[in-house]
Amino acid sequence: EAKARGDGGYERYRPGMEARGAENNRRAAALRTAILEDQLVVYFQPVVTLPGGRITGAEALVRWQHPAEGLLGPGAFIDAAEQTGLIVPLGTWVLRAATREAAGWPGELTVSVNVSARQLRQPGFPALVAAALDESGLPARRLTVEITESVAVGGGATTENLQGLRDLGVRLSLDDFGTGASTLTLLATCPVDQIKLDRSFVPDGGPDAIADAVAQMARAFDLDAVAEGVETEEQAIRLTGLGYEKAQGYWFARPMPAADLRARLTTADVG
Ligand code: C2E
Ligand code: MG
Ligand code: MG
Ligand code: MG
Repeated sequence: EAKARGDGGYERYRPGMEARGAENNRRAAALRTAILEDQLVVYFQPVVTLPGGRITGAEALVRWQHPAEGLLGPGAFIDAAEQTGLIVPLGTWVLRAATREAAGWPGELTVSVNVSARQLRQPGFPALVAAALDESGLPARRLTVEITESVAVGGGATTENLQGLRDLGVRLSLDDFGTGASTLTLLATCPVDQIKLDRSFVPDGGPDAIADAVAQMARAFDLDAVAEGVETEEQAIRLTGLGYEKAQGYWFARPMPAADLRARLTTADVG
C-alpha cells in the first residue's frame, strides 16, 4: 500500500503486481468517470473534546457511490487514485465539497481534509485552497489540512506550500502520527498545529508508553494532541489522562453523511 511505504516513490517487485496494476487501471478509468459524474460523496466523522465529548468539528472522508458495487471506502480506490494522479482532481473535489458543507455548520466548528503528497507538491496549491475558502465562505481558521509525516517531507513545492497554507490561516495536522518518520526535527521544522496519534497506538489494555510519549511531544512543541480510532470508553478515559485534548472514533461517532451530521449539530452539545 502506497501510504505504508512512505517513500512516495518506488516499490520493489512482488508477484501479483501486474495484476494489481491492471486492476488499478480499471479502477482509475471508472474513477475518472466517478469524479465527472458526481459519484463521490463526502462523509464526516465528528471530532470531540476530551473530556466532555463536545463536537468541535469533523473530518471529511471520501466515499464512492459506485453504480454497481455500492458505497466504497477509500481503501478500495485511493491507491489507484494516487498512482494515476487522479488524486489531484479527487482531492480538489473533496476540498470544495467539504468547505462548502462546513461553511453551514454553526459557530467555530472546524473541518479537517486529508491532502496527499501529490496534491501538496503542486505549485499553487495554497491558491487552490484559498479559492475553495473564498467560494464557500468558510474562514481559513476553520479548515485543518491533514498530512502524513511522509507528505511533510515530500519535496517539490511542499515546504513552501505548507508555509503558504499557514499564511492563509489554515491549520495543519500531522495525521497517523507515529507510523512514518516521526522525528523531533520534523516537529521542530514543519509548521504544524496539531498531531493526530495513529489508532495503532491508542491504548488497548496494554502499556500506553507511545501514546504518552506522543502527548508529551505535543506539549513540548505546543501542539494540539488528538487521538483517532477511539473505540471504547476505557480508551477515551486513558487518553484524557494522558493529556489528549480531542478524539475521534467509533466510540463517539462513525463517519456519516453530511445531512446526518447536520441533524446532530442542531441537537447535540456543540463547541
Ligand atoms: P485517516 O485520515 O487516518 O482517517 C481515519 C480513518 O479511520 C477513516 O477511515 C475512519 O473511518 C477510520 N476510523 C475512524 N474511527 C475509527 C475507529 O474507532 N475504529 C476504526 N477501526 N477505524 C476508525 P476511512 O474513511 O476508510 O479512510 C481511510 C483513509 O483514507 C484515511 O485515513 C485517509 O488516509 C484516506 N482518505 C480518506 N478520505 C480522503 C481524501 O479525501 N483524500 C485523501 N488523500 N485521502 C483520504
Ligand atoms: Mg485523516
Ligand atoms: Mg489518521
Ligand atoms: Mg490512521
